[in-house]
Order: sequence, then C-alpha cells, then structure tokens
Amino acid sequence: MAGVPVKHHSKSKVGRRRSQLALKRKIIIACPFCKSPAMPHRACVQCGRTVKFTK
Ligand SMILES: [Zn+2]
Repeated sequence: MAGVPVKHHSKSKVGRRRSQLALKRKIIIACPFCKSPAMPHRACVQCGRTVKFTK
C-alpha cells in the first residue's frame, strides 16, 4: 500500500523544500597534467590523476 499523506503541505512549504533540489552549476577546470577538462577533487578522466585545487 502506498503512503497516504497525513497533513496538507502548503504551496510555500513544498516550494521551500524543492528550492534545494535544483542542480548546482558544475565547476570544470583544465587538468594541469593533460589539459583536458576535469572537475576539482575528482580523478581526471583522461590521465587518472586527482586535481587538488579549484583554480
Ligand atoms: Zn588529466
């Protein structure tokens, strides 16, 4: 059985909750080792090395 809502959620309450759901813009930098686009603090897709800094 599916869950049944116990209380009504107002539009503002639903909107406040959903205000946190949007995806943030991805930060993409150039890998200092192979110059391909990579995300900071993630292993580079091309060379597998981790880019530690944001700028
Ligand atoms: Zn790389």
